[in-house]
Parts: sequence; C-alpha cells; structure tokens
Amino acid sequence: MERLIYVDKATKYYGNNGNVTKALSEIEFEISEGEFTGIMGASGSGKSTLLAVLSTIDRLTSGHIYFEDEDITQLNEEQLADFREKKLGFVFQDFNLLDTLTIEENISLAMTLQNKDHTFIQERVQKIMAQLNITDIRNKFPYEVSGGQKQRCACARAIINQPKIIMADEPTGALDSKSAELLLNTFVTMNKEMKTTLLMVTHDAFSASYCNRILFLKDGEIFNELIRGNKSRREFLNTILDVLSINGGGLTNVE
Ligand code: ADP
Repeated sequence: MERLIYVDKATKYYGNNGNVTKALSEIEFEISEGEFTGIMGASGSGKSTLLAVLSTIDRLTSGHIYFEDEDITQLNEEQLADFREKKLGFVFQDFNLLDTLTIEENISLAMTLQNKDHTFIQERVQKIMAQLNITDIRNKFPYEVSGGQKQRCACARAIINQPKIIMADEPTGALDSKSAELLLNTFVTMNKEMKTTLLMVTHDAFSASYCNRILFLKDGEIFNELIRGNKSRREFLNTILDVLSINGGGLTNVE
C-alpha cells in the first residue's frame, strides 16, 4: 500500500509562559492508502489535537506532517484551504448538515459551489446515495430523518469530492447502537468498495473494532498499536478491550 500520511515527531504545546500543556509529544506514525485507522485514548490524551493538526485546522509547535510526500506544515493559509477542499472529507459527531437544504442538496452542495457540471453532479450524487442506502430520503430535510440517516448523509457529503482521506471525530457519539452499527458498516463499505482511506477518533471499543488498525494515545504519545489482520471483528473487539483493561485507569476514564 502506498504511504499517504507520514507524521514526523509531531509536537503540539498549548499556552505559554510557565502555563504550557504538551498535547502531543514527538508523535511518529504513517497512514497508508486504503487503511481504516482508529485513534483511541482517554479524555485529554491528545486525540482532538492530533485530528486538528492532521486536518491542518491547527498548526504543530514542531515536527512535520507529510501528505503524499508534501510537507503540509509548510503551506500558507491559501494553500491549506485548497488542500483541505481537495484532499480531505470530514464527518462530525453533530452531522453539520444545513437544515434549509434537502438531503440531496446537502450532499451536492460542495460540488454545486465549485460550479461542476449539473449532469455530472447528479450522476455522482445518485450513485453515492444508492451505495449508502439513502436514496429514498433524498427529498427530505435533515429534521425529517433519523440521526443514523443524517450521519449517512454526512458520510455521502464527505465522500462526494472523492477525498484522499475521510476524518471522523467521534462519529457514533450521538447515535443509538443500531444507527451506530449502520454507520460503521457504511464506513466499511466506503473503505472496501470505494477504496476510501479513513481515520476515526473514538473512545468506544465497539466502534474501534470496525477499524483495521488502532493507535492508542496516552499523555500525547502513542503507547500501543493494534493491527486487526485476519481477526474477526469480535476477536478484534476482545483484543481492544484487553488493551483498555490492562491500561486501566488512564484509558477507561473516557468521556
Ligand atoms: P482528547 O481529544 O483526547 O480529549 P485533547 O487533544 O483535547 O485530548 O487535549 C490534549 C491536552 O491538551 C489536554 O491536556 C487538554 O487539556 C489540552 N488542550 C487541548 N486544547 C487546548 C487549548 N485550546 N488550550 C489549552 N490546552 C488545551
């Protein structure tokens, strides 16, 4: 698999003058194309900070992040905006859908704003709605559909521009268990059938068990890594739960 992201001694401090928090401490790892990586860790371990610097919403204090071998820590604001638009897709816990637009309009919005050809947009949107099983709610507004359907709409919107990677921050956090399972299966579909690379922050072992690989953060450092390999999802879930219980206090103290 081709390397997509290389994080090289990524360090992030917050604050100044004697009141400094080290949120990330010389973190180093790679993400290859086609991976579905989970990031786990207790509250305050640095998960959000890591996602913020990977998505270029925040800048590192020191170290580098390479995306397709380009050092994105060196880009200026204009280049960063372009990078985010072309390469990244996001799925948030609270969906971030626009209430005045239908499900279909929410999904097509980014391409409409880019003045893409109407027929091209239509074809792409129809295909993705079919793949994610939301065609029947295309003309409804977000407040007329369930949380799980909203989240699948958010997935369709994230994937519409064919980003190199989709980053998801606690995407199952606001869902009941059945909707969460549907969403996680949607991620697996996106990963396996659409060949999308995914990075998901979660504190939930069940959600994490859908990933191919998990990085565990503690005090701003990666202290463990699990690879699913040929394990079934249930076996992988048990392995994750073992890591969480062995590391007790720190990791089970999740938000
Ligand atoms: P997590 O997402 O795992 O809960 P965070 O990345 O939010 O962890 O936080 C990592 C550490 O950095 C924590 O100690 C947190 O208090 C601190 N931190 C996060 N954001 C800020 C900020 N904007 N200012 C100061 N400290 C922060």
